[in-house]
Amino acid sequence: MEPLSLLPHDAARALAGVIFDLDDTVLDHGALTEAAYGALFRLRETGLTLIACTGRPAGWGEVILRQWPLDAAIAENGAVALVREAATPVAGAGHRGGPPPSAGADRIVALGGLDRDTRRARRAELVELAEAMVRRFPAAALADDNDQRVTDVTIDIGEHRRVPSDDVARMRAELRDRGVRTLLSSVHLHLTRDPSDKATGVVRLLSARFGEDPTRARYRYAFVGDSGNDGVAFAAFAWTFGVSNVRAHLGKLSVPPRFVASHPMGRGFAEIARRIAALRGNGVEP
Ligand SMILES: [Mg+2]
Repeated sequence: MEPLSLLPHDAARALAGVIFDLDDTVLDHGALTEAAYGALFRLRETGLTLIACTGRPAGWGEVILRQWPLDAAIAENGAVALVREAATPVAGAGHRGGPPPSAGADRIVALGGLDRDTRRARRAELVELAEAMVRRFPAAALADDNDQRVTDVTIDIGEHRRVPSDDVARMRAELRDRGVRTLLSSVHLHLTRDPSDKATGVVRLLSARFGEDPTRARYRYAFVGDSGNDGVAFAAFAWTFGVSNVRAHLGKLSVPPRFVASHPMGRGFAEIARRIAALRGNGVEP
């Protein structure tokens, strides 16, 4: 991994957008700091498209896309892509000199995917498997964000619980034998039957929503992350960044990020954003 100072000027200027993980990348143990939130606005001011890409539930993706300065959100490790649909102007509502009449808030819609009944049936089976796992590995528990999920089920292994890595490995092996895919973040073990991951989910969204060629997108979008479920994106994108706490997860990453910040989590994200913004000519290096 290289320091941020080695990020080439031309690469930063050629970027169309930045894709970033949330937990322990933008968020500090789940909390959003002023520095990290402000960094999103600084990036956007340089003309970049911003896409959150998280293992968190679809319901959380919808909330942040409503509230944060984002263009899209990927949730549940690539299985759900959420975008804004512009509000329809009110027919016949004229105005005289003042601002146009408000058409209301944009809608948040999910792109493609399975119908609701199929998802429910798949999830019910995964919930049963996850419940069986946490009965056998009592250090683990079902994560408390499951009710907002639509495709996967999560077991808490590091958010409110501390689960030995041997237990996590045994759970993953048993689930694999039952044909269930598992993905690991710093806080959760995800059980899913959806074939998506953060890289395929992002590329599908970029192609469908932003008209990006998948190969060019590798160079036009940077990715920022911190742990195991970001590994596929570190491998897929050319300009990848880790916050400094990524160092604790290097053993689980087949490809590390190309650049690493000197600070962890939200401060590291702000440091990366500051560097990219400065090279794009719209930021001030400290
Ligand atoms: Mg993370």
